[in-house]
Amino acid sequence: MPSAFNILIIGALFCVVMLLVLMSLLRSGTPGIREWALANALGFAGLLLYAFGRELSEPIAYEVANGVYAAASAAILAGFRRFFSRKLHIRLLAASVAGMVIAIALFHYVFDSFALRTLTVAVFQGAVCGSIALTIFHSRHAWRSRYPYFFTAGMAGLIALGHAVRAGLYFVHQGEITSLLQPSPWNLFFLSAGTFVLPVLTIGAVMMVHDTMLAKAEHAANRDFLTGAWSRRALFELAERELSFTRRTSRSMALLLLDIDNFKSINDTWGHATGDRVLIDAVLRAETAIRSVDYFARVGGEEFAVLLPETSRSAAVMVAERIRITMEGSARSIQIEGQPETPPYTVSIGLAILRDTDSFQELMRRADTALYAAKASGRNRVACD
Ligand code: GH3
Ligand code: MG
Ligand code: MG
Repeated sequence: MPSAFNILIIGALFCVVMLLVLMSLLRSGTPGIREWALANALGFAGLLLYAFGRELSEPIAYEVANGVYAAASAAILAGFRRFFSRKLHIRLLAASVAGMVIAIALFHYVFDSFALRTLTVAVFQGAVCGSIALTIFHSRHAWRSRYPYFFTAGMAGLIALGHAVRAGLYFVHQGEITSLLQPSPWNLFFLSAGTFVLPVLTIGAVMMVHDTMLAKAEHAANRDFLTGAWSRRALFELAERELSFTRRTSRSMALLLLDIDNFKSINDTWGHATGDRVLIDAVLRAETAIRSVDYFARVGGEEFAVLLPETSRSAAVMVAERIRITMEGSARSIQIEGQPETPPYTVSIGLAILRDTDSFQELMRRADTALYAAKASGRNRVACD
């Protein structure tokens, strides 16, 4: 049977490994990593103090060891709060750690009770893990994918539950267990599980950091930097997917190509920065006129494409007209926060409907021909191929 000492040493070494893993992520600049690294450094020290408890003086084995390990848990919670940009109550965290140490000292020197010391630690650690689970769930809006967040919140919740069970069991069996290092099966079970808490939560944190880095990279590749619309590259990828779906289901698909009219003169009259604001404004306006299943992409300087899956010619004409009118609207109702109004502008739109033999390039080419016709016949209008 493994001894408590072995389990604690393995846990301490695991903390070192997690610390090294976190170091590799420091340069990503993701908030929370420093707190998680600090947590593992404190966890390493705390677990070593627990492991060598019998050879150390009493205040170090009891109050200092529990205090250091509690600080590690508080730091890991602080990391999750920082990661999700949630308010961090450092004073409250410090006061809880201090309160826990005082309670341990009380149940050690004044009223010596292993059960009450265990209860104190279980309440503290359970509250920390419960707070981590709540912090993650309250930040659902910031989740990119589900797995890392469910994993971490689930583990934190499970650990909180484990602490509650442990507190209950130890209370019922008061007197039978007199030390954490005693090799009873329950003791060893809770010790093993408890030793893995910091590494498990850190693994969850690392998965979350990777998820945000992946989301950032995907965003950079798929979105236009200035306007946030889909990038040209993303449009071609999305179009291939939609094209094969449209073919399989024998539905129709439409493509609109939009070009802002006389954009060069907007730049020349108002300056390049105002031109940029017009581009952003155009995307905001267009997005109010399309469905969530449609794709609005910036395909060139002041040219945009709108891919309309499952859309007939007549419906596509209506959408195109709606977009054209939304852009032309003299009431500049949509405004970028803190920015002056954009000058009025109009767009010309070319529309093409997917034919059986069309590739996406062919569909684009036909929409472009229609756009050219819309420009040639006076601008601020929709033309169909
Ligand atoms: P038309 O009605 O025929 O489309 O005329 P136009 O002036 O809109 O077309 P033209 O192609 O002559 O000019 C497009 C201008 O768009 C030229 C270019 O400097 C400007 N442009 C391209 N990208 C950007 C950008 O990111 N920001 C700004 N402000 N201007 C841009
Ligand atoms: Mg153009
Ligand atoms: Mg133009």
